[in-house]
Amino acid sequence: MNKNIIKAVKILKKGGLIAFPTETVYGLGANAECNTAVKKIFVIKKRPFFNPLICHFYDIDSVKKQTIFNSQAKLLSENFWPGPLTIILRRRKNSTISKIATSELDTIACRIPSNRIAKKILKLFKGIIAAPSANISSKLTSTSKKHVRKNFGQGILTIEGGNTKFGIESTVIDLTSKNPKLLRPGAINF
Ligand code: AMP
Ligand code: MG
Repeated sequence: MNKNIIKAVKILKKGGLIAFPTETVYGLGANAECNTAVKKIFVIKKRPFFNPLICHFYDIDSVKKQTIFNSQAKLLSENFWPGPLTIILRRRKNSTISKIATSELDTIACRIPSNRIAKKILKLFKGIIAAPSANISSKLTSTSKKHVRKNFGQGILTIEGGNTKFGIESTVIDLTSKNPKLLRPGAINF
């Protein structure tokens, strides 16, 4: 096991931030169930608190514990997860995800990434990682470790994963009403 991955998981458990590769762009991650950890993402990125974060899960069972997983979600997830698709679902009443991460909405943006390193981190962490793109808000997204460094300097542990496969963000689809809504075009074309 890569030493840096073990280090990254320790940082997440302590409520810190890490940067890691996904198949789309590099993410700036924090423990999605910890308010103080998630708050740090908004502050360091200069991201407005009303712009909710995508939550990254290891598997579908953990998504089902947090959200109302409807039949449309079943169909899309079977076809596109793990992968660059983010699905907006209704939050369960007993969801443990930070309300700061979801900007107090009653919905959660869910994704199961396919990137090998992202999966390793999620598996070892055994939790959920809230992670927007690893860049200062309104600046270009980071598709390599070098880009992350340009945004945040050496202060944040960044796991090396080469250039990201897609280089653009995940497609975001809202499945909380009868008709699915495409909220953001991205790596998957419908
Ligand atoms: P980013 O992580 O910055 O690449 O972007 C995440 C995208 O997902 C943004 O466009 C958010 O507005 C959107 N998003 C995250 N959570 C939700 C949610 N609960 N409902 C609707 N859109 C969301
Ligand atoms: Mg972004």
